[in-house]
Amino acid sequence: MARPSPGTPLHPVGGRRRGRTPVYFFVEGETEEDYVRHLGALTTEFQFFVQLRHTDRERLVDEAINLRRNEVRKAAERRQSDNGPRAWCLFDYDGDGRVDGLFRRAVKDGVRIGFSHPCLELWWLLHFQIVTGRPDSETIKKKLRGLSSTNAFHGLSKNKRLTRSRWEALEGRYVTARTNAEKLVSQCECPCSPPHHDDGCVPSKRNPSCNLAALVDSLKITY
Ligand SMILES: [Zn+2]
Repeated sequence: MARPSPGTPLHPVGGRRRGRTPVYFFVEGETEEDYVRHLGALTTEFQFFVQLRHTDRERLVDEAINLRRNEVRKAAERRQSDNGPRAWCLFDYDGDGRVDGLFRRAVKDGVRIGFSHPCLELWWLLHFQIVTGRPDSETIKKKLRGLSSTNAFHGLSKNKRLTRSRWEALEGRYVTARTNAEKLVSQCECPCSPPHHDDGCVPSKRNPSCNLAALVDSLKITY
């Protein structure tokens, strides 16, 4: 699949099928972008833009904040009130000690973070089963490779992309994934109780956790 340059919509603008409400994405890797693309095919209300793909989480948050501030400023110049466009950063924890600070900065500027701890593969696994304890990334990937209900993830050690066959394996399981993710909230090291982490919760202590259901729900889609 060809990758558009930043700012190019993932689908042609216009026509009756596509709405014009933009959603801007700042993603850590190709796999996050794969997921965004699959979700984008499910909505006619929102227009997706993958603005940036970069492995530096801080840069993702910086650019998302800049985009929102610029759009709010431009609206003010047109004398329009505008709370700014939807902007999502997608990344996992992977031991990055800056994550808690990045969350604080993002919240202040209305940027949302789709966050998986310890890794994005946790979110795929939650589509199939409850996760208990604090499995590390390798254990999570091993469980995915060993699923009996699908062989789509067997080659995960060689290729972590969300291929068509893997996406098809997830389809029909979103509600299960959301439910399983909510159950993880009770395992948070902060005193959080399901279904959501408290405002004072420290993201790096949400192990394991994944809030990508918040993204899917905000887009009013399911799969
Ligand atoms: Zn929490």
